[in-house]
Amino acid sequence: MERLRQRLHALEGKDYAAYQSLRGEHQFADFTLFADRLQKDPYAPPGTGSYRLIVSRAATGLTVDDLATSTRRVATCDYLARRFAEVAAQVGGRRRGTGHSGLIAIARPGQAVLERTSMVLGPALDVVEVRCFLGLPAHGRTIDGPLAETMLLHELPEIVLRSLLAENLDRAALEAQLSTVEDAQALRAQLRPAGLVAFIADAAVLPRTSGADQRPLTDERAVAFRAPDGALRVTLDAPHAGPVNGLGIPHGVTLLVGGGYHGKSTLLEALAQGVYDHPPGDGREQVVTVPDAAVVRAAPGRAVTGTDISAFIGALPDGTDTRAFITGNASGSTSQAAAVAEAIEAGARLLLIDEDVSASNFLVRDARMQRLVPAEQEPITVLLDRVRQLHDGLGIGSILVMGGSGDYLDVADHVLQLADYQPQDVTARARAVASELPTDRVPTVGHLDPPADRVPLAEGIDPINEHGHRSVRAPTARRLVFGRTEIDLTDVEQLTEPAQTQAVGEALELIARALDGTATVRQAVGQVMADTARDGLDSLDPDRRGNLAGFRGLELAAALSRLRALRVAPRQS
Ligand code: ADP
Ligand code: MG
Repeated sequence: MERLRQRLHALEGKDYAAYQSLRGEHQFADFTLFADRLQKDPYAPPGTGSYRLIVSRAATGLTVDDLATSTRRVATCDYLARRFAEVAAQVGGRRRGTGHSGLIAIARPGQAVLERTSMVLGPALDVVEVRCFLGLPAHGRTIDGPLAETMLLHELPEIVLRSLLAENLDRAALEAQLSTVEDAQALRAQLRPAGLVAFIADAAVLPRTSGADQRPLTDERAVAFRAPDGALRVTLDAPHAGPVNGLGIPHGVTLLVGGGYHGKSTLLEALAQGVYDHPPGDGREQVVTVPDAAVVRAAPGRAVTGTDISAFIGALPDGTDTRAFITGNASGSTSQAAAVAEAIEAGARLLLIDEDVSASNFLVRDARMQRLVPAEQEPITVLLDRVRQLHDGLGIGSILVMGGSGDYLDVADHVLQLADYQPQDVTARARAVASELPTDRVPTVGHLDPPADRVPLAEGIDPINEHGHRSVRAPTARRLVFGRTEIDLTDVEQLTEPAQTQAVGEALELIARALDGTATVRQAVGQVMADTARDGLDSLDPDRRGNLAGFRGLELAAALSRLRALRVAPRQS
């Protein structure tokens, strides 16, 4: 530390480039700092430099038991990442000086417990390694030596002390995180065997602070969930919490109905996020969904490359082949048809669909419209006519938010009505209404095949930008800069934080290597997911910048499908 102090002293007033001399290893009392790569100017954003802090496990107070399974390792590291982020925001979260001067930060965890490259364990589980960003301070390009000393010699050790060292380890909070995650995984594992696709425990708090903030609404306005009495009220077992009562949504076609503003979309979003485990205090700790659930929304304007949307869209006026549909500017209905087909292609077995973000002509066409517009003039086979076939023929269930169209009452296995945020099982009453008021629609009949698999080509997947540099960057969870293009992921709702999206971007490059002119989307994604599971998330970023988080193959496939430069092999037939 004394040597570092002297070196910082010597750097005072020099040009920013002189910071490069700090590259290498610095021994502190309780940890080692490795400055592997130093940013070249004070404006360089987090993710450009790479700094690692290594603390021995003994110093952290973590026990062998805390790290006994991969689930516990992920939960423990996620816990420490949250602690570090929280303390760093208090101690070193301010920018002081030019650009990012003075900032000490790690990739901020969202509301999902995920594997994170910001906090990892050594291979022998004997050390904990933090990857953080240090905004080495300057005024203009002139090094601010005294501030650098404050940051590196006072603040950094204080952050490590408060977030990672044994004397400040909040054992109860760590245990709560471990139990919460183990319980969620146990609940999720019980879904399929019990014929369910989702479970929402009594007392869950579903609403979020705002549309832009995924943290729970915690004030008195939040109404806790309570499962309705009746057949859908089930009890599952959690290893720590014991028996848990709640609403079990069976595999099938389920409608969420109810008046506007009664909590339908909020429930569906909670189910969408139920593929992830949540940290204690989230409110949705015991809301779980099968891991192969996919939200599908309309995204007018998106590119579609070779997707087989023929189950939903037949002959188009311009003669386009919808078995391998190509457009740079999809309509609402074709984008949603593509989203459904691509989700199925990638392995989804539960579709989550909200009318709020759907194309209405993709969802329904009523009797009057059927009479006015002759069938041969309408290329769209609405979801209403396919949703049962998807389930009965292909084993793909759906949960649909449907406040506007009662035509769906004919095709639902279960109907839940939300009233004042509380669900009621109105299935019987919905059946009665459906038979009292027939719709007079003429259902489209016709066989439903699964969408044909695409065979993508490696050539379109290029992370090199127009300046010849590799550029893979996720400024937000729903935007991915990839080479020359930006992938719009607005409708890929289950991406929850930028670190996930960054990892998807890194993995996208590996997809190119898994493609050999015969591999399908599903195979290539499966290969990359298997490789990443085997080699660890770190294998996606040799620079170890600490900006990646765990992700699903479904989101990787979704990003691939939305890449405008994607090319696919012509279909044989
Ligand atoms: P819908 O889709 O039925 O129109 P939303 O799910 O969008 O309704 O919810 C409407 C508003 O009510 C949102 O601001 C949401 O945050 C809030 N809300 C949803 N569920 C609850 C709840 N259980 N307690 C309190 N507020 C809620
Ligand atoms: Mg809504």
